Amino acid sequence: MKYIDFTNEEINEVMNKAWTAFHQYRKLSLKQRADFMRAIAVEMEACGDELINTAMKETNLPEARLRGERARTIFQLNSYAAACEEGTWLDIRIDTANGGKTPPKPDIRKMLVPLGPVIVFGASNFPFAYSTAGGDTACAFAAGCPVIIKAHPAHAETSETVANAILKAAGKCNMPDGIFAHVHGGSVEVGKALVTHPYTKAVGFTGSFLGGKQLFDWGNQRKEPIPVFSEMGSINPVFLLPEKLQQSSADIAKMYAASITLGVGQFCTNPGLIIGIESGALQNFIATLGEEIKHIVPAAMLHPGISKLFSENKAKALLQQDVTTVAVSETDAKENQGLPTIASSTGQAFLNNPVLHQEVFGPYSIVIRCKDKDEMIEVAKNLEGQLTATLMATENDISNNDEFMEAVKNICGRFILNSVPTGVEVCLSMHHGGPFPASTDSRFTSVGADGIKRFARPICFQNWSNDLLPVELKNQNPSGIWRTINNELTRSSL
Ligand code: NAP
Repeated sequence: MKYIDFTNEEINEVMNKAWTAFHQYRKLSLKQRADFMRAIAVEMEACGDELINTAMKETNLPEARLRGERARTIFQLNSYAAACEEGTWLDIRIDTANGGKTPPKPDIRKMLVPLGPVIVFGASNFPFAYSTAGGDTACAFAAGCPVIIKAHPAHAETSETVANAILKAAGKCNMPDGIFAHVHGGSVEVGKALVTHPYTKAVGFTGSFLGGKQLFDWGNQRKEPIPVFSEMGSINPVFLLPEKLQQSSADIAKMYAASITLGVGQFCTNPGLIIGIESGALQNFIATLGEEIKHIVPAAMLHPGISKLFSENKAKALLQQDVTTVAVSETDAKENQGLPTIASSTGQAFLNNPVLHQEVFGPYSIVIRCKDKDEMIEVAKNLEGQLTATLMATENDISNNDEFMEAVKNICGRFILNSVPTGVEVCLSMHHGGPFPASTDSRFTSVGADGIKRFARPICFQNWSNDLLPVELKNQNPSGIWRTINNELTRSSL
């Protein structure tokens, strides 16, 4: 179905309503927000097979993956609802007055409050979990913010169906009119109008570096700059350390062939760069990885644009000096399918050529052969910010390797040992973000309930009497929220 781009007048109307809704929604209790989020989860489930079929048609993703992703989205809504209600995310600090001090210390209490209407850009590669009712939307609702979705044009109908589920939940929970809106747009002008609207107070995005950085720049160039949380490209380096590689090069290669091609390589955590030190074990690894890749059958990518970009970016990488093709799938790729491909190059070539540092979004990875440990450290030091970095290593490999370890830690948001970066657990300890260009703000995560804090800001109340304070800051603590009172973390009342 073809949807028509919203006009500037329509966007203005949506934003005016969102602004009015903000002043009503922010006053609702944490429980009311949480109940709304749980109601969205129920409505999403109630969309049944029709939603899965629509998403299959629009994204080429297989049924099992989409069912799993919907379950993950429902889990996100429910678990962030629980976190919203539990209230730890409010970061409450209370320092009681001390008249005996000179000068007297006033009563000071701090908590997080919502920013205002949030624009969320649906991600092409996660039609449920990072789109209309996905992680960013759940976090913004939990924080107390209305949400305006910019639907991804590649799955506009899926997005429309989920949007209707959200509106149904909003109606059932008596949410203010304007708490949620769904905006279609196949041109960048729609995104620009949303990000630059004066009533927009924050943005959440997952996608390309070019898109994410553009939104970030628009957000910063406004008369009133706003935070833009863009989660962008990452090549997720994997370092193969010598002792580990010697012990299990074939097993690691098999594990990585599966990770590189999972979901046709269309994950932001796809391992696009593998780095080892020249040795017989590394040659074994490369040979086994190549053999595995040959047997992986190409599959359709999310949309023709992504498939075209994959072919172009891969061709560009393969044309670079000192880059060789190790293996491609033995099955020809049909139209819009991604042909699994492994390339290889030297540490020197990688250090000299920024093209090899760029994301090739799809089933592709390049193995970099360093001449020695020092060159591997240089490669680590010259990497841009990443969502993840992985070590395949024994304890021996890690000990006495401080310079290398510090270099890797310095560039990543999630540091993985002896596993694969694909698969992002939704839990409080997760960090899905990383130094630029992986994301525009490395201090925040887009997965896990800590993501709620992206859409809130601190306010501190000084010298207010108990009865005038917001309920969460009053002496009584009926919901048992964890609060830091006079430097001690406690759930007690005061
Ligand atoms: P995209 O081009 O970044 O688009 C994502 C969303 O942002 C769309 O709604 C798009 O709107 C909007 N957008 C993009 N550029 C914009 C701009 N300059 N101004 C305003 N809005 C803009 O991502 P995609 O279409 O999903 O895929 C394209 C490429 O992005 C992929 O080939 C891949 O390289 C990369 N990607 C990376 C990840 C990751 O997690 N690392 C995930 C998905 C995609 P319009 O369509 O209306 O322009």
